[in-house]
Amino acid sequence: MDQKPEPRPRGLSCARCRGSLQVYRTTKPTADLVVRYRRCKTCGTRTVSEERMIRTLPGPDDKVHVQI
Ligand SMILES: [Zn+2]
Repeated sequence: MDQKPEPRPRGLSCARCRGSLQVYRTTKPTADLVVRYRRCKTCGTRTVSEERMIRTLPGPDDKVHVQI
């Protein structure tokens, strides 16, 4: 199976106006959780999002290199 890394994912958009959001604060409460505070560039709505590991996958996969 030939897996290619995905292109850089698009950021989340504003729930109110779908405008683009700007991260103004990032915290890392635990090793596997990132919390980002975002503000809409268009309407100013502020939101909080979290990014966490769901699970680990079996075995290494050195064919995929995701650049962050
Ligand atoms: Zn907005």
